[in-house]
Amino acid sequence: MTGKPATTLVSTARPRGTGITSVNPPLVRASTFVFDTLAEFERAAKTPFDVPFYGRVGTPTTFAFEEAMAEIEGGHRAIATSSGVSAISATLLAFLKQGDHLLVVDTVYEPVRRFCNRALTRMGVETSFYDPALGAGIADLIRPNTRLIYLESPGSGTFDVQDVPAIVAVAKARGIRTAIDNTWATPLFFRPLDHGVDVSIHAATKYIVGHSDAMLGVITANADSYDDIRRATQDLGACAGIEECNLGLRGLRTLEVRLKRHEATGLKLARWLAERPEVARVLHPALPSCPGHEIWARDFDGAAGLFSIELASRDPEAKRRFIDALQHFRIGFSWGGYESLVLPMHPESRSLPRWQDLGPVVRLQIGLEDADDLQADLEQALGRI
Ligand SMILES: *Cc1c(COP(=O)(O)O)cnc(C)c1O
Repeated sequence: MTGKPATTLVSTARPRGTGITSVNPPLVRASTFVFDTLAEFERAAKTPFDVPFYGRVGTPTTFAFEEAMAEIEGGHRAIATSSGVSAISATLLAFLKQGDHLLVVDTVYEPVRRFCNRALTRMGVETSFYDPALGAGIADLIRPNTRLIYLESPGSGTFDVQDVPAIVAVAKARGIRTAIDNTWATPLFFRPLDHGVDVSIHAATKYIVGHSDAMLGVITANADSYDDIRRATQDLGACAGIEECNLGLRGLRTLEVRLKRHEATGLKLARWLAERPEVARVLHPALPSCPGHEIWARDFDGAAGLFSIELASRDPEAKRRFIDALQHFRIGFSWGGYESLVLPMHPESRSLPRWQDLGPVVRLQIGLEDADDLQADLEQALGRI
């Protein structure tokens, strides 16, 4: 029986009619599966992504996580990979060849920019970084050899929300594929495939695993894109670990309740920060001060607990004093775990000139701590500026 997303998260990947079963699928650690007859082995070789065949191709634990992601995100199939970055690079490699042109949003997660500028350049693929504010206007950047449009919405660091339906309409009219990094929203707050995007990618390392203890990527593809991506992840050997798939599936079970709390505390603190004189601007998609806020309100079902503030003081020491004074917010990469984090952002290193105008941008990951405690911490640290 199907239901709303919170119900699907709990019931997915737990088949009925198989006799007494554990609530959680067994964790199958295996490189090798053994077969009694050559006929059985040959049968498995025909559908290696559905039945145990070889560990790199997947184990029942991998399949359970992939099945859950495909169901929750509404895709044809999902593919688990070793990290968010491997999921993204495999997707780009799946569709690009020498002489192709790629459009990548300028607010892209920085390691993806490096992959484009290093590996793809070496392969003879040219990347143009486009303004996240472009909707249908992206048509002007399309060349005869443009093969793929890559989106990330909201983008990393400054959280600009993209007009996904407008970009997809342009891409579809020209037979260009689209892929999106949907890590911030998770399948609960934005459903890219429902908007016509071909491929949705997650750093499951973040909210899906949710506890800062595993690296995991996952790609959900429509039927038309699935085979190419599956071949690419196999070619790269970018398989996800068994423990990691198990942690990803386990994280999915509680994703809704965690995300609702990240959202509520994040909104409370974002609104409070917007009133503070030390803060020039709050870059949170649910606040009108965030570029693309109207698009977020139109297309998204919620807001994650990750956002940035632009400090009013341009003195670099002010930023340092603020960050160093924080107690509950520790300095660290990544986000999506239960703990609050802080990290300085560097939008000035992007490709387009317009980011040079921003003041110091500081990213906050709002964890599951008590909202009043986090607010008090921010208040004392702002006081140190
Ligand atoms: C962290 C992150 C990634 C990369 O994920 P890893 O699992 O760290 O490789 C990709 N996209 C976004 C938006 C991220 O924040």
